[in-house]
Amino acid sequence: MRSFEYRRIERPEDLSGDRMGALASFIAGGTTLLDLMKLDVMRPTQVLDINPLVRFGDFGQIVVEERGAQLGSLVRMSEAAEHPLLRVAYPVIVQTLNLAASQQLRNMASLGGNVLQRTRCPYFRDTSWKACNKRAPGSGCAAMAGFNRMHAVLGGSNACIATYAGDFGQALIALDAEVEVVGPGGRRSFPFAQLHAEPGENPHVETSLTDGEVIRAFSIPAGPWTRRSTYVKVRDRESYEFALASAAVALELDGDSVREVRIGLGGVATIPWRAREAEAELLGKPLNEANAAAAAEAAFARARPREHNAFKVWLGKATLVRALLEAKAMEV
Ligand code: SF4
Repeated sequence: MRSFEYRRIERPEDLSGDRMGALASFIAGGTTLLDLMKLDVMRPTQVLDINPLVRFGDFGQIVVEERGAQLGSLVRMSEAAEHPLLRVAYPVIVQTLNLAASQQLRNMASLGGNVLQRTRCPYFRDTSWKACNKRAPGSGCAAMAGFNRMHAVLGGSNACIATYAGDFGQALIALDAEVEVVGPGGRRSFPFAQLHAEPGENPHVETSLTDGEVIRAFSIPAGPWTRRSTYVKVRDRESYEFALASAAVALELDGDSVREVRIGLGGVATIPWRAREAEAELLGKPLNEANAAAAAEAAFARARPREHNAFKVWLGKATLVRALLEAKAMEV
């Protein structure tokens, strides 16, 4: 491992850009960063520990009220997954957390770090592969002509098709969460849907965060659909594995018909993916297998499979159909 300076960020005011080096990385749980430092993929010269910020305001709190929920970015995944009010009012959030990683990792990993985790693309994580536009801008993409079974079919570009690896992000995008950030420019908030960037020509630019900004909290608005919400995750093995395809669904029914539906897809896209075409397909219609299948067709109409991942198109559709029908069957 390369040497680096370790520093604790004791107060939000310490998030000042001019006191941070260009090669600074923030650390909370460290479950992504330390892995990538050991692999020599990330080479920060400064590691800035933001855990002391848990003492300030929203960073370490879970608040569930009638108007919505607020989850601090330094809350550990396991703490949120075990929260009794979240379990009842926002089951999709709890399920995305419980189906991610292992209990040991969930005990360490922060919610903010979880949504910012880097891709599991093997060519990104192995520096013996020279061509990776995300790791070395302009170097090419080894996955295009390589083994791309795990890669994305939605949201990719000719420069990168790396899959977004998280689960929690699918719940946040389905539930129209807002992200609150703090940094040298003060505080600001914006829709979670604007946090992650599709790769386009610049796959190394992964988020809309500016230098020195950290996530402070996530705000999730209340709605009749949050209780009838669920997450289906399909993977090669049932534990400690990333999704091949996943679907987060939040649903409000009027009798048998869909009054409101929110859908986030995972394992198939380069960012947490909101399936708005599928939502539009379902509104006002009875939720049955045929209409769910039509919605799934709409969700993947723009899919662009590569040599080894065409199966993700039908798997993604089947996963969404299952999630919709499971949400309908929930007793709320
Ligand atoms: Fe790198 Fe993206 Fe290509 Fe993977 S898919 S090798 S992360 S550029």
